[in-house]
Amino acid sequence: MLIGSMSNESTMSPPFEIQLQSKLLSAPAEIRYAIYENLIPDRIHAAVRKNSLRLSPCVQRERDGDAHCTYRRSDHLILNLDHRADPAFVRRLGSSWGEHWRCEEMQNGREMSANTLLRVCKRMSVDVAQWIADSVTIHVCDFNTLMVLEASSDGRALDHLTPSKLSQCILPNLKTLSISLRLPLATYEALENATSIGGSKISLVVAWTKLLKAIERMTSLRRLHIWLDHDEGSTWSKVNERAIVSPLACLRDIPNLDVSINLPRLHPKWETPERHFTEDSPASPLTIHRRNRQRYHVKRGWNGSLGWEHSPDFPILYDHEEWFGVSIEEIEELERQCWKKGGDVYKEFIQPFEPKCRISFIQDC
Ligand SMILES: [Zn+2]
Repeated sequence: MLIGSMSNESTMSPPFEIQLQSKLLSAPAEIRYAIYENLIPDRIHAAVRKNSLRLSPCVQRERDGDAHCTYRRSDHLILNLDHRADPAFVRRLGSSWGEHWRCEEMQNGREMSANTLLRVCKRMSVDVAQWIADSVTIHVCDFNTLMVLEASSDGRALDHLTPSKLSQCILPNLKTLSISLRLPLATYEALENATSIGGSKISLVVAWTKLLKAIERMTSLRRLHIWLDHDEGSTWSKVNERAIVSPLACLRDIPNLDVSINLPRLHPKWETPERHFTEDSPASPLTIHRRNRQRYHVKRGWNGSLGWEHSPDFPILYDHEEWFGVSIEEIEELERQCWKKGGDVYKEFIQPFEPKCRISFIQDC
């Protein structure tokens, strides 16, 4: 006996056998879904790998995005007291997956059960794909996958990619999508200045255009989270937030879609109402959440060796409230006033207490 696709005739696989002999596939939906829930994590990464879109588990832990970057260290030691080389730490600081650095390391690991289940047979593949689309948050952390997302949202396959169940069945019916992009600062500057970033690199203009097209077609989508950062030690406030968010403003008009954007906190010395969503300037068309940015960054030495540097963004005095005997709110306000008056909180309060070698190179220091 043949049946058609389960929920979206235009995007699902050709008809398939109903597999009545299978005890699993003959079981009630709630039983099947409970089994899938046990086998498949509720957060999954999608990334282009070996000419196809592949799934890998999201293994992000609660403190992986800690501003002190403590959990990126191999040994979790206190950074300011230790300058030993730690290649893993440097690699994780530079991860383009941002707070999902642990997930990037895992993506080439053991085959994920979801990939296996999607290959069992057409009937199970459609069943599993529908469950994933309904119940799982899909994370995307790179431009290339965003391009595929757009093509997949209407069932098209890209020339260089093998069609997969992910692109054919999951993405068009997806409920929750999370996008994390940690991009070179030049990529943001190119958007603001309407200049080319050169080479074959994809610009933010192209990425946002593709994303909007994809979202337009993903009619089941209910939640979209976008997390952004740049990959340098200089302040986030170098980025023109209004230029980045404005092209996405039309997302607020899509019914039943909750959109939120997660950005680093602004630096009082560099924030301007023309470029940033400050407290006393016109609000963002989309909901913005602020976070404390990572305070350690990759630094390249004169001979090409890689190391790290302590380069905190606002609040510089993060976690220093015990030093001053005041609350976090009070210390941030004090710092804000200091910057506004032309002071340099870093030079006054942090630098005198730091080890002389602020940059620790793997080969040099
Ligand atoms: Zn993850």
